[in-house]
This record gives sequence, C-alpha cells and structure tokens, in this order.
Amino acid sequence: MKIAVIGTGYVGLVTGTCLAETGHRVTCVDTDERKVATLRAGGIPIYEPGLEELVKRNVRDGRLDFSTSTAEVVPDVDVAFIAVGTPPGETGEADLSYVLAAAEQIGRHIGRYTVIVNKSTVPVGSAEKVAEVVGRVAKAPFDVVSNPEFLKEGAAIDDFMRPDRIVVGVSSERARAVIAELYAPFVRTEQPILFMDPRSSELTKYAANSMLATRISFMNDIAGLCERMGADVDHVRRGMGSDRRIGYPFLFPGAGFGGSCLAGEETVLVRQGGHTRLVELQNLFESLAGPDVPPTAALRVEGFEVLSWRPGALEPEFLPVAAATRRTHDGEAVEVRTKMGRRVVCTPDHPFVIGDRSGAPFGLKLAADLHPGDWLPIARGGARNAVVESRPLELDLLAAMGPAGLVAENVIVHPSIREEMQLAALGTGGVRRAIAPLGHPRGRGRADDVVRNRVVRLHEVSPLGLSLEGARASTVKNGTRVPVSLLADEAFWRVVGLYLAEGHCSSDGRRRRLAWSFHPTREQDLADEVARFWRDQGVKADVRQMSTTLQVSVSSRLLAGLFVDVLELGADCYGHRIPDLIWDRPEEERRALLSGLWRGDGSWSLVGGGPSVVLEFGTVSRALADGMLRLLGDLGIVARWKVGRTRRSTVDTHWLVVSGASQVERLLDLVPPRDRKGIRVSLARLGKRTAPTGWGADGEGPAMVRVTEIVRRPFRAPVYSLEVPGAETFVTTGGLVVHNCFPKDVRALMTMARGVGLDFDLLRSVERVNERQKRTLVEKALKHFGSLQGLTVGVWGLAFKPKTDDMREAPAITVIEGLIGNGAKVRAHDPVATEVAAQIFGGRVEFAPDPYAAAAGADALFLVTEWNEFRQPDFELLKRTMKQAVLFDGRNVWDARKVRALGFTYHGIGRAARE
Ligand code: NAD
Repeated sequence: MKIAVIGTGYVGLVTGTCLAETGHRVTCVDTDERKVATLRAGGIPIYEPGLEELVKRNVRDGRLDFSTSTAEVVPDVDVAFIAVGTPPGETGEADLSYVLAAAEQIGRHIGRYTVIVNKSTVPVGSAEKVAEVVGRVAKAPFDVVSNPEFLKEGAAIDDFMRPDRIVVGVSSERARAVIAELYAPFVRTEQPILFMDPRSSELTKYAANSMLATRISFMNDIAGLCERMGADVDHVRRGMGSDRRIGYPFLFPGAGFGGSCLAGEETVLVRQGGHTRLVELQNLFESLAGPDVPPTAALRVEGFEVLSWRPGALEPEFLPVAAATRRTHDGEAVEVRTKMGRRVVCTPDHPFVIGDRSGAPFGLKLAADLHPGDWLPIARGGARNAVVESRPLELDLLAAMGPAGLVAENVIVHPSIREEMQLAALGTGGVRRAIAPLGHPRGRGRADDVVRNRVVRLHEVSPLGLSLEGARASTVKNGTRVPVSLLADEAFWRVVGLYLAEGHCSSDGRRRRLAWSFHPTREQDLADEVARFWRDQGVKADVRQMSTTLQVSVSSRLLAGLFVDVLELGADCYGHRIPDLIWDRPEEERRALLSGLWRGDGSWSLVGGGPSVVLEFGTVSRALADGMLRLLGDLGIVARWKVGRTRRSTVDTHWLVVSGASQVERLLDLVPPRDRKGIRVSLARLGKRTAPTGWGADGEGPAMVRVTEIVRRPFRAPVYSLEVPGAETFVTTGGLVVHNCFPKDVRALMTMARGVGLDFDLLRSVERVNERQKRTLVEKALKHFGSLQGLTVGVWGLAFKPKTDDMREAPAITVIEGLIGNGAKVRAHDPVATEVAAQIFGGRVEFAPDPYAAAAGADALFLVTEWNEFRQPDFELLKRTMKQAVLFDGRNVWDARKVRALGFTYHGIGRAARE
C-alpha cells in the first residue's frame, strides 16, 4: 500500500518506519523543514532506541522517504495518517488545531479513495470533526478512522511491532478492510486488533492512560503511608502485585508523573483555635511556615479551617485545610473579572467552580478557559458551622501594652476606690515591704508616693496584692486615663466603624492620638456620638471645631495600641481593615460596625432620580473593601465592587454598591434614621421588586455572577493554594468561590467528563496526589538539610522516562525548579536529554558530561529518571567524590541496605527512613 504520514514526530516517524519495514511504501511529511532536511540527510531528530538503523535501512531500500509537502504526497496514497501534535491547551483538553489543519490539507489533495487514520490523541468526537473538515474540500471518496497510539517512548519500536492490542474506531466496512490488511503483520492471537466505533476508540486512549495514572497515584499515596508507618513500599508493592487481579505493572511509586494557584494578595477567611481572621494567602502561608520555609513548599497543616463552599450547598462552611502550598510562578497570570466587580488573579490553570444562572448544576473550568458568560458563585450567607460567641466581649487594654511598645513600668494604674483604701491601710511600711523585691532606687520615697497619691505602676499591682478590677490606667507620657478593660458592645463597634470611615491614629514622639474627623457642619451628631462614647467610659475626649473638620480626639497610647496594634484597624485610610474579632461576634455587633462605617463614609442615592435606591461606600483600602464585602455577604447581601480613580487622586478608590430593593431594605439600619422613611417611600413606589442587577439567584444560596473578562499578563511571583478535602473549594477575595488547585495531565478526560456534566472525582484526586508527589523529593531534602541554600545537588536523569529525550511534563522540571528555588545549585546529567533540558533551564543548571561529574563535590545526589546506567553505579567512587554522602532515590532503584552500609544516607520513596 502507499501510505502518507502527516507529522513526523515520535509517533509519526515510528509509525511510518515500522509500516515501511513491513513492505509498504511510506512518505513521512512534516512542515518543519529542518526536521525533514535532517531526515533526508540520514540524521534523526529524536532519540529513540533502534529507530535510527530502521530508518536508514528502509530509506536505503526505497520504502521510506520524507517530504515537506502534503499536497505532493497525498494524491496517490491509500492511507493517510495524521500524527501531528495535540498539545494540551490550558484546560488540559487537546488542542485540535494542528489535526484539523492537517485534515484539511489531506482533504484538498486526495486523488482517489483514501482512508484517513487519526493517530493523534484527540477528544471524543474528533473523527467526526475531521470527516467534516475533509468533506468540505475533498473531491474523492474517503473514510476517517480513529486509531489511537499507545506506544511508549523509549520502547516505541517494540510497542509498535508487538502491540498489546491495536484499537481501531471505524464506521465503514471498506475502511475496516484496508486497516485489517495494513495491520495484519502485527496482529497475533494474544495481540488482537479491536474494531469499534470511533468514539469508543477515542475514549479508550484517555481511559487507559488515566487508569495507569490512577494506579501510580494510588501507589504514591501508599508510599506516603509506608514512610509514616515505618513500612517498605517495595515489599507492599510485591505483596499487592502478586494478586493476579491486581498485577505488578504500574505499581511503582516515584517522583510523580506529569499546579495551579492564586496570587498572594488574594484573601481567605480562616478559623484556628476558635478565632477567625481574614488574611491574605501570602501572610497566611508565612504565619504557618515561619521564616525559614523555602519558596516552594507544601505544608501539611492541621487544626485550621478555611471558609469553603460545597457546590450545591446553600451556605458556605468552614472546612479543615489539609495542606497549604507556595511556589514561584513565572509566566502568565490571569485576572478573572466578573460582574459585580470581583477580580481574582491566578495561574491560567487554576480551576473555578462554574454553574448557571440558577446556581446548578456545577462543573469546573480552568481560569484561562473561562469565557464571558460563564457563571461563578459568590458565597452568600453566614457559614453553616459558624461559632458565634454571644457572651459580651471584654477587651483588655493592657494587652495593647506590648504591641504599643510599653512596659509595665510605664503604665500607671489608678486603683478602684476600694483598693485605694487597701493601699492606705497598708501604709508606707507595708507598701515598702511589698515592693522591696522590685528594687526601686528610692524605696521609701516610692512607698510614700504610692500611699500619698494612691497610684501605682503596673508591675507593682500584684506585689501589693491589688487586683485590676475597676482600675484605670494611663501612661507616663500620655495622661489620659482609660479603663483597663472595655466592653465591646454595639456602641463600641459603631465607634470602631466610624474610626474605619473617618479616623486615623497620629503620633508625635511617644504620644499617640486617635482622631475622628467629621464634616464641620453636617456630622455634628456623629462627633457627639464618638465623644459621648469615650466620656461614658471616663475617657477624656477633645472635640475641636476646625475650618474643614470637626475633630474628636483621644490622646492615649493604650487606646491607640488597642485600635492599631491589637484590633489592627490600621493607622490611616490606606491601612484600614475590618478587625478580625468581629468575625466571631453576633450579627447585631457586625451590623453596628457596618453602620458606623456606612454612616461615616457611605451614602445612598436614587438611581436616575428614583425610585430605585442604591447604597454606596467608598474607601482607598482594598482590605477594608474586601472585609466589608464579606461582612455583607455574611448577612446575605451581595454588593458590587467598583475600582476606579477619582480625578484628583493617585490611588484607587474601592466603591461598594448595594442595589436591589430587597437588599437595600435589609440594610436600612446603615443609613441615618432621618433618611430611612424617604428610602422606604421610594422603594414602595417601585411597582415590582427590582432584582439586583448583574447576578442571578436572588433567592438563597450563592449569588451567581457572570465572567466579564479574562485578562492575561506577565507574572513572576509566588503563588499559593490550599487543599480542602471534601469540598475542594475555598472562598476568596470579595467572596468569590474558587476550586482548589490541581495539576495538568489526566485533565483532558476530566474536562471532557465535565463537558457532559459528569464530575470525575476520582481523577481529581489522582491529579492532586501526582502534583504532591512531584514535590516530595525536594521536601525530603529540605527536611534532611533544613535549608538548601548554597548546597550543590547532583541530578541524574532529566527526560520524563528512560530512553527518550522528551521532557514534556517531566518530573525533573518540578524537582529542579524546587531545588533552584530553594537556593541550591544544580549539576545535572542525562544520557540524551541535555540539549532539550538546556532550552528549558538555560544557564540556571550546569550540565555534566557524565554522571560522576554531576555528583562530584555535591552535597546530595537525586535520581530522577531511572536510566539503566544509573542502576548500579560505582557507589565507592560516589562516596569518595561527593561532598556529603546523601542520596535521594526518586525511583527506588538502589538497594537501600547496601548503600547505607557504605555510609550513605539514603532517602527513597515509601521506604522507612531507617532500616
Ligand atoms: P511531536 O510534537 O513530536 O510531532 C508532531 C509533528 O507534527 C511535529 O514535527 C510538527 O512539526 C508536525 N506537524 C504539525 N502540523 C503539521 C502539518 N499540518 N503537516 C505536517 N506536519 C505537521 O508529537 P508526537 O509526540 O509524535 O505526538 C503526536 C500525537 O500522538 C499527539 O496527539 C500525541 O498525543 C500522540 N501520542 C504520542 C505518544 C508519545 O509517546 N509521544 C504516544 C501516544 C500518542
């Protein structure tokens, strides 16, 4: 038969050559002129054992040649193979554009009945697409056949010549007869040719690969278990494999086969030890990891939960986090923008939960694959398992002492009247004896002062047997007396809200002052409210009418410390944020805080003269806007988030806009009482309820918002994710729900499954395990060395498996990036993949001419790809030449006992650290 093979990569070249070997006349076509020139000159562009001789022989015997022109080759062939690349798009689903382009070129030029065989790995339904494309342009009859390729690089010739089976999807008898004849030389009883419909054949390829991936990931998890339980995965693997129902192949654990994350400034609401806080992912990671954890790390965490949402549930809920990850992302980031103004920056492959307007059913899509019109959920309603503390909260002002830079000697305590009497009763002698151990320079004088003035320093309180009940405190420099504890009731949260809207904290020297600045004429009531609150606490508050503001101020280091350092409210409008304490407080207190904020900086207006009403709030602090959006979300309100610059400003203003009659009505307590009636009247004039614009699902459950834009931009910074078993999601900035991350590969099948409304849960786990697995070697090294900074690491093996130079999705990439990212110097060796690797790593990795040169002087040696030449190295030589004798065996090929006996420290996968 005369055969054309379009696409002369691994698959095309092997297919063409093997078919020529059985006597057919084959021309391999490729658009890459250099490749064709190399082949014509007798060279071979890829590394594949045995291929070169086979190519040479068939070329010499006139059965195989090469061309750059489909047009010239196709007119008189019986069979045209398509073997062009189908690189994974960002969604993991194969990019069909090369296949369809090749199909069209074939279609244009066939001169007689031709069987077009698709060997590329393509999504289900592609054969029909190819037939359609060819049908549009072909002038001769044709059939399209699906014939997925299962060859393994490194053993490709053998796989092609002695396949386990040949899968052919065909819908015509004529084509079936041609294919049966073509493959007859390769078919044996045990190695059948399986004819089926094209869709089944296309799916078989993905199903088989995913099953293998599942076995590997399963085994990798067993390996993890072995390490923790002191077992050896090698024994466990053999014990399992000997069961015929299970079998041995693909039960080898290793450094992973084949990640996605959010930018560090995105936020999550986390709960730990009963306290909830809203925190940026980067700060959360740092707080969990401490300063010494390297740039790329996955932390197993326990005892902390994140606000998450189970697709389909009404409310969000707190769920335990299993791991927090950080890695450096160098490439492109995607900003996902939605209606209602939510924006989240993530890697292009970060998955999102998508639904429809009504909120169901839910599927998944990767960020880069989102389209305007996809619906994303914004969490709404309080967490199902929120623990609200309804007992009144007493704030201890003395707790502000440390953060405010005060020591006990600087804090003056004014005891309650009862305790003043107690002091008097003690008398100078008693006081002197009590405080003697503190060693005051003028003991007697000091005792006199105490008895006379009835004031003590904080460190003297307990030696004197006093309590702090009913006491007041001031500081040496700031005379203002404040209570030592403050009841955080609704009035307090209102004042905090007003501070976040209109306040700041100033310092001059060692004095600190909290100030609220109101409109000089229109906000007298608010100034009165703040001043009254402080006076009711017995705290001196100054009210000053200035030309542009009406200012209330309190000069107290302790109160300033409470506001700025303990509650972390921020010292000025740029740093303002919602205090974390509020997340665990009852709704009335949250509303009080929100109403303080809104009264200070919010407004309401009629849309286009009415009757629709919107509530608006503006701030220059993104953190404050995020916190308020989440507080509102907690109350079931979804506000729009608008970011923009006012004309004279140099920073962004964040506007929160609440619209929709029912939403506005529920927030009436945020507007001044005198305006409420007007708003009610206006809303009543609305004939029918105005649904809030921009989002669906007005009832309960999450608010579904449409994607408006996907903005791509260059990005080089750490990215973060959390693993939340159970829901696999978390609620991030502005309340938007995102899926947690999962890596590439196997994704194609997942994406297809999602496309038809099936959530392939098992594969999601497979992906996660795999991604984790790729990081284990580096994590082991970090655990061993503490830090990799300044160490030299030898790496053996770069290709994704032995006997090939293919590095696409090779674990070595993750391993080496992890090593470099942690400050190690990498010296690598691979028998054939060095050139390909050099293009990936550039000058960041040193390539050694032989394995021992890579290991010489190294602090550790990593085995990543199990080439045969690495299996039995000269360990004595390694021991002598390495700087530190530490081995990380990513493929479990070395005999742990033997190398340990030689004095190496050995780390394998799934092998207990000690023998
Ligand atoms: P490859 O990238 O090595 O080769 C593809 C070749 O096609 C390239 O040389 C490219 O220049 C050429 N090409 C692209 N468009 C062309 C056109 N219109 N006309 C002529 N040539 C064109 O890819 P590969 O690894 O051989 O894989 C090919 C397909 O087989 C993919 O779908 C892949 O998923 C599948 N597959 C690969 C393997 C494997 O181990 N490599 C195994 C099974 C299946």
